[in-house]
Amino acid sequence: MLWPLARRRHVAPDQAQRLADVRQKNPESETWLALVEAALAESQDAATWDAALPAPVDHRPARAPLLDGAVVGVHRRSASRFVRELARLAGLDGAAHRLDALDLLEAAIRQDDARIDALATGDPSTLRVVAQVAAVPLLRACARTIGKDVSAAWWEGYCPLCGAWPTLAEFRGLERKRWLRCGRCGMGWEVPWLRCPFCAETSHENLGYLAPEDGETTRKVEVCDTCKGYVKAEPTVSELPWWGVLLDDVATVALDVAALDRGYHRPERRGFDLEVKVVEVGGGWWRS
Ligand SMILES: [Zn+2]
Ligand SMILES: [Zn+2]
Repeated sequence: MLWPLARRRHVAPDQAQRLADVRQKNPESETWLALVEAALAESQDAATWDAALPAPVDHRPARAPLLDGAVVGVHRRSASRFVRELARLAGLDGAAHRLDALDLLEAAIRQDDARIDALATGDPSTLRVVAQVAAVPLLRACARTIGKDVSAAWWEGYCPLCGAWPTLAEFRGLERKRWLRCGRCGMGWEVPWLRCPFCAETSHENLGYLAPEDGETTRKVEVCDTCKGYVKAEPTVSELPWWGVLLDDVATVALDVAALDRGYHRPERRGFDLEVKVVEVGGGWWRS
């Protein structure tokens, strides 16, 4: 028999502890957390995902993220296995076998919702969630291999590696420097205190905060009255690990609700229209 051995993956102990804590406080997010847990476990497997990734493309426009114009290689069999696992966790069993994992990953990295919807045979909104999580191990691999090439002078509101809008803002350390963090690839980039990531507004008259009236007050929501965008913000002692960004995003859903209730929203347009291709590498010696 040539079937690969079934491997059960586990998250690291510090991830498991934080996961348990977020689970207990957010039972309504169980499906989402199960997907995130699978992505954390999968992301430990560097041998699978640190595949052929070319150096950043020369002559990229200054405002283009590192992955713009890149061709990213993945092992089809590993990608298919992971996408099927996520689809099963999300309740998309029947449809999962017909999904082309590389297609889905490419659409996910490009944040091309229309293309994801076209791949869906069941509920497209569930497949969008699966796609978002499916891209995490691959984008983490990209961050590991080329993240160091991000310019320290990156100034845009979107992620310097993958072009997504920031998931949250960190006020880091005693100096409270403001870092935006990407919830897909985990990259962070330092930005000025007063600057909307979405529309670059810098006037303090149009930038403000929403803070919970009672209970926890360290976390808040940064809002912009010019574009009505918002981003969740929290103080941190030191840099949050990449997976902490994903888990804190789930742990702070109440802040999203508060912002939406007050008429703020996440931008509908993408941070950057990333041109990226996902191709198969190392097809291996076994073919069906
Ligand atoms: Zn990113
Ligand atoms: Zn704005």
